[in-house]
Amino acid sequence: MKSNFHTHTKRCCHAFGVEADYAKEAYDKGLSVLGFSDHAPFKDIDYGYRMQFSELQEYISAVQTERERYSEKMRIMTGLEIEYLPKYCEYYEWLLNEMKLDYLALGEHFFDINGRFCSIFASESTNEYIPYAKAISEALKKGYFSVLVHPDIMFMNCFAWNKNCDKACEIIVDAAMLTNTPVEYNANGIRRGQQDYPDGRRDPYPHPRFWAMAKDAGLKVLVGSDAHSPEQVYDKSMELAVKRAKDFGLDIISEF
Ligand SMILES: [Zn+2]
Ligand SMILES: [Zn+2]
Repeated sequence: MKSNFHTHTKRCCHAFGVEADYAKEAYDKGLSVLGFSDHAPFKDIDYGYRMQFSELQEYISAVQTERERYSEKMRIMTGLEIEYLPKYCEYYEWLLNEMKLDYLALGEHFFDINGRFCSIFASESTNEYIPYAKAISEALKKGYFSVLVHPDIMFMNCFAWNKNCDKACEIIVDAAMLTNTPVEYNANGIRRGQQDYPDGRRDPYPHPRFWAMAKDAGLKVLVGSDAHSPEQVYDKSMELAVKRAKDFGLDIISEF
């Protein structure tokens, strides 16, 4: 069964196409389930690379329109990819309980170290991976997030593997196991292409060392496209991600 739960739209200002384009592509590619998970806005701060808060209702309505259009043919889910900061707990509850979203996907692009805002893409060293992993662990234990997407995105940073990397992976894997949260094997890391790192050439993510630990822990794994244009909903990178996840022996699920 083909599915994808990680789909953006042009509302986030760095993707192309509207909800209808993604739904049509998913249907044409034979998906049984398509989840929309565009980058979530926050009410008080525009963190960039996302829709405005004023667009949220329109986004939800647009997904609902596609859900009705394909109701006999494919299951469409309404979600958001969102970061965890402790101050937004009421907001996560509001999105789930009042806005009736089907799911929140934790995509931790930024986090908080003792009140200091940090972007995972601007890490100065692997030391930051520890508080990053702890933020993810705390987030998953809150119970708001149905899936942890790109759990290994920190390995985009240009550092050699060291003990901080082992420790951070361990914290994240333990939290996913404890909370029974599926983790996403993300095709967008493959789509970005292999790059040179201090300890060799590889995809930025998925990182095999993270996935070896995920496998040992028996984590449930969703393969996600992280589509930022309609043709990426189930493209060659997605197919390759599915193949690699299978070859790796991961416990792949196609629904949650
Ligand atoms: Zn994006
Ligand atoms: Zn993301």
